Amino acid sequence: MSTATLTIDLDALVANWRALDALTTGETAGVVKADAYGLGMARVARALARAGARHFFVAVAEEGAALREILGESVTIHVLSGHMPGDADMIGDCALVPMLNSVDQLIRHAEALPGHPFGVQLDTGMNRLGMEPAEWQAVREIALAQAPVLLMSHLACADERDHAMNPRQLALFREMTDGLDIPRSLANTGAMLLHGDYHFDLARPGIGVYGGAPFTEARPVVTLDIPVIQCRDLETGESVGYGCDFIAERPTRIATVAAGYGDGILRAMGPRTSLWAEDTPCPVAGRISMDLMGVDITELGRDPAHLQLLGPQQGIDVLAANAGTIGYEILTSLGARHTRRHIGG
Ligand SMILES: *Cc1c(COP(=O)(O)O)cnc(C)c1O
Repeated sequence: MSTATLTIDLDALVANWRALDALTTGETAGVVKADAYGLGMARVARALARAGARHFFVAVAEEGAALREILGESVTIHVLSGHMPGDADMIGDCALVPMLNSVDQLIRHAEALPGHPFGVQLDTGMNRLGMEPAEWQAVREIALAQAPVLLMSHLACADERDHAMNPRQLALFREMTDGLDIPRSLANTGAMLLHGDYHFDLARPGIGVYGGAPFTEARPVVTLDIPVIQCRDLETGESVGYGCDFIAERPTRIATVAAGYGDGILRAMGPRTSLWAEDTPCPVAGRISMDLMGVDITELGRDPAHLQLLGPQQGIDVLAANAGTIGYEILTSLGARHTRRHIGG
């Protein structure tokens, strides 16, 4: 093994999806945008479909087309960006359900693919995607006449339990959709954990399935093992890496491992992060380079063949906190750049 390996535990992933699914009386979708948060759409989507997911969400039509190839005809694939110019053939041929975001998209869809299923995305305060209340009011009758298959919105602050935006968005979503006999969807992972009132007919958990906060009970899904290229002894006063940020305060043994920020290991996490040799934390020594980083293995007392950045001792949310970011960015930065190995499923 000469490069780092990202191992994805599909059994843990499926267990997380099932645990979230058990919270709701409605259905639970698989959210597999961005190559399933970097973990590999094909393997992840197949595992979730086998576990019983019948609805999937992707960001753009191209992802939807790829997913259709992978899963075949038996599932519903929703496209969050809606119906973009030039997408009609893909939406039609691959039987995708665009979540229409605006009056422009509604017209485009009705003209290009009359009678083809669609959903509507409503903006209840995030101001990112979806029709605003006034816009919805204006076109609602026209849209409803074409029988949308799903009405959805998205919460801005669902990972903050007591945030005032949550009940406000819920109330507005109800106001915009109550009394219509159309399936509804509001909850991401955070909203699923808030209260059953947020669940509606179809929940859309992403990060919790992939093992991240705010689903604190999630089983960890990813491990990242990085091979050690060489080890060396430093005398007191010698330094490691660019800018000499690490200076040995005692005789020190340094391992140089084969991954860096070019592999999605965010440079900002360096100063607070350790790599692990089983139960022993070995602190990153000095700045993270593009393809390499130094690790202080003095306390370990042996030269390891590889060290673990992500694993049972240290999950994505620890790395996220160390780098001043969120678990989502840790996953998507790492997933695209490492050899991925899927186990279980
Ligand atoms: C990404 C996304 C989700 C999943 O959110 P998590 O916070 O990862 O659970 C759900 N809905 C929409 C609209 C999204 O963009």
